[in-house]
Amino acid sequence: MILVLLGPPGAGKGTQAQLLQAKFGIAKLSTGDMLREEVTSCSPLGKEVKDIMAKGQLVPDKTIIDILFAHIHTPDCARGFILDGFPRTVKQAEALDVALAAEGKAIDHVIELTVDDAKLIERIGGRFSCAKCGAGYHDTFKPTKHAGKCDACDSTQFIRREDDKAETVAKRLDAYHKQTAPLLPYYQQKGLLRPVDGMADIQAVAAQIEKVVGTDKKLAKNS
Ligand code: ADP
Ligand code: ADP
Ligand code: ZN
Repeated sequence: MILVLLGPPGAGKGTQAQLLQAKFGIAKLSTGDMLREEVTSCSPLGKEVKDIMAKGQLVPDKTIIDILFAHIHTPDCARGFILDGFPRTVKQAEALDVALAAEGKAIDHVIELTVDDAKLIERIGGRFSCAKCGAGYHDTFKPTKHAGKCDACDSTQFIRREDDKAETVAKRLDAYHKQTAPLLPYYQQKGLLRPVDGMADIQAVAAQIEKVVGTDKKLAKNS
């Protein structure tokens, strides 16, 4: 099962990818997380992408395609995977199709999380995550169960993303509308697009996604 989660920044891709990974036990590949790890470790790649990310722009297609492809060929992904944050341009989508076809594979569903811009800004404004395990939270919509303690690992250290400040969010939304939104007709034409109402609460969105993938025989067989 190969799933793509598509949607603007703050739509809930990471949140739903975490839930799907836990539920179906397939790998989750988040290109934003991969890039942030490179930046944190000050690797040559991290140095190359740091300023681009801080400005709210997309990193070059070749850079991100190389990073992602290094992951999809690992044994962890043999049973399938969930893509969170990739593809973000038509070039990336085409490269993915070619790479999968070479292995006799293909995307099963592209889940489009639809959320309006005002709600995205509210979501991104309150976003934080566990510094140790990466679990995602929101000040209002998904607080930790016990104040200051991660539900998943009990850590008391949390982080807020540098690019989640208002000026950068506007640029990221602009990049989404100009560079990523053309993927919607691209996947629509291939019969893969499954729009889901991302404005609903987290569990209701998860239920809608499960309805889409739950009817898929391949996943049922593998899980
Ligand atoms: P969000 O979850 O808010 O949509 P991500 O964590 O997926 O954001 O991505 C953070 C940043 O990493 C993006 O603004 C962009 O700079 C870079 N990035 C992540 N994935 C890609 C991609 N597929 N193509 C280009 N840039 C990417
Ligand atoms: P993305 O990966 O698409 O950028 P996230 O999954 O990080 O989005 O979600 C952005 C913020 O909104 C996080 O703080 C998350 O806890 C919260 N969130 C995600 N989905 C919902 C939802 N359906 N309703 C309310 N808040 C949500
Ligand atoms: Zn944690």
